[in-house]
Amino acid sequence: METETVNFSGKIQNQQYSYLQNKQAISFGRTESIPDEFISSAPKPKKNKWLLWASVGIAAVTATIIGIRHFSPLKQIERRFKKLYDDIPGTQKKFKEIFMRENLTEEETINMLKRYEKIEKDELKQSKEEYWQAVFEEAKANYKFEDFDIKMVLDKELSDKSAGEWCRKTKSVKIKPSIDKKYGFGTIHHELRHAKQDEILKYCSEDDFIRLYGEKIYESLKKRGFNTVKNKSLEDFIKETFYGSDSYSKEMRESIKSSFKTITGLDEYMTPAELAKVPKEKIELSKRFLKDMECPDIENDFTAYWKNAREIDARHIEDTINEMITGLNTKNRERHFNIK
Ligand SMILES: [Zn+2]
Repeated sequence: METETVNFSGKIQNQQYSYLQNKQAISFGRTESIPDEFISSAPKPKKNKWLLWASVGIAAVTATIIGIRHFSPLKQIERRFKKLYDDIPGTQKKFKEIFMRENLTEEETINMLKRYEKIEKDELKQSKEEYWQAVFEEAKANYKFEDFDIKMVLDKELSDKSAGEWCRKTKSVKIKPSIDKKYGFGTIHHELRHAKQDEILKYCSEDDFIRLYGEKIYESLKKRGFNTVKNKSLEDFIKETFYGSDSYSKEMRESIKSSFKTITGLDEYMTPAELAKVPKEKIELSKRFLKDMECPDIENDFTAYWKNAREIDARHIEDTINEMITGLNTKNRERHFNIK
């Protein structure tokens, strides 16, 4: 709630206006120095009647102008960004997390903010498509993809349950054209985060990759009651299956490598020397996402899909960037999907 004192040429003194948080509502709190003209029991000199109405008119117009200035979409954007500019270290920390940019500088943070502010202001006079294109270009640049050349496609055919989709095969972000214009902002960042998740899968050493897949194979054989794993520990199974000197181990290693190729698009694993230069957090994230690689089909098992590590991560990023830039609260969206 905000109050402001306005003077009208000595006629109405200390008139207080309180602006409700509610966007347009402006209420008049006439609590101080109420002029006689405003009290119904007081004698109203006829000759001053026009002055009364003129004052009311001026007051209403002024209040509306002040109200518009306070609650116009432009002012709201400026207020939201002021908070971000006022706390650059906090903003920088969030951008670092969102875009996986551990070396992001303060200067880059400020420039990023300036560009996002421009995008949000331009949005007020742009079509949905123009706005989304600008958001996509900005987000893509901020994620700094090294290997992927990603495109955005508007796709009417997307499932009812998705606002967007990341297609690994065609390296494209698909967005449902019917979703809300502002909701699209977070969706674009969400889908590009999935692309980033894929891009960092390469930060997994050959041993880690073999272990993750070995674990999956071991669990699946156990579930199906295979004798080969009956009285065998996971360690022994991995050692025998992938690290033996026979041709079987060699074959198994080749087949695991082709999975790595399909997922990352790379022919070779990264060497230990190359991996030593990669921040630990990225390597940890890469392992976490690989573990949850097979994301269940949205239509068949939506709850499992919702709880997948990759989904949880992308939703968290979407919520964070929305809270910062658009002010949209997307945190409770599972209510719409009946998640248990
Ligand atoms: Zn997702």
